[in-house]
Amino acid sequence: MKQIIDKNEISLLEKKANYIRDEVINICVQNKAGHIAPSLSCVDILVSLYYNCMSYKPEDPLWKDRDRLIFSKAHGCYALYAILADKKVIPKEEWKNFYTEKSTLLGCMERKVEYGLEAGCGSLGHGLPIAVGLAFGAQLQNKKYHIFCLMGDGELQEGVTWEAIQFAVKHEIGNLTIIIDRNRLQAMDFIINILDKEINDILNRFKGFGLSPMVTSGHNIKKLVYHINAVKLSLENRPKVIIAETIKGYGLKCMEHVPKFHFCVPTEEELSMGKTYE
Ligand SMILES: [Mg+2]
Repeated sequence: MKQIIDKNEISLLEKKANYIRDEVINICVQNKAGHIAPSLSCVDILVSLYYNCMSYKPEDPLWKDRDRLIFSKAHGCYALYAILADKKVIPKEEWKNFYTEKSTLLGCMERKVEYGLEAGCGSLGHGLPIAVGLAFGAQLQNKKYHIFCLMGDGELQEGVTWEAIQFAVKHEIGNLTIIIDRNRLQAMDFIINILDKEINDILNRFKGFGLSPMVTSGHNIKKLVYHINAVKLSLENRPKVIIAETIKGYGLKCMEHVPKFHFCVPTEEELSMGKTYE
């Protein structure tokens, strides 16, 4: 892990993110797996984590000192599957056959550490309490690895999230970073139409617990890598929070910000509108 990476490294990470987007789109459209949009909003975050920021050995997914990602935002896990297949942690055939009877990978993942899947997801809000428990355990054992938890912004409505944060603050857990995929949508509507009253509600809630969330672009890999590595290196004894501003469906012109693509598979005509990346 390096705090400063050069232009060539950033360019390689951006190319990798485009490859992962292609994989998610191609495999999921071919196998008719809905919920592509919540996966596309977190590709750049996951690429930054797995190809730069996390201490992780693909050849040994059970390595005891690995950094852990608790992926909490349910169906967005397709992007994680594509990355772990690229790293050969998940067998390629499992990923190519995803959503068919030939694959054991589920729409919302089950815990399978040998596949790099650290916790089940799907019942929203449960990822952070698991992450806090893992981070607290590591702290008690004086372990140096870091716990990341990737959450959806709609998911923050789950009450147990705030109980977990209260615990993490009380116990001065500093080896934990919460990254919010802030795509402003949840399921079939915009968050502001559901429970949030003001656009800055999420930011202010974290501040209310004495945390200092930072806001950055969730599609700018240079900024993501910089901020994630910075919080990982920080010696502050409190959880770190990164609010990554993202676009649900990022990369497909037909899909960006369009609520129905929370679960709809795009038609050929919709796909023919093209991509927003090369
Ligand atoms: Mg969302």
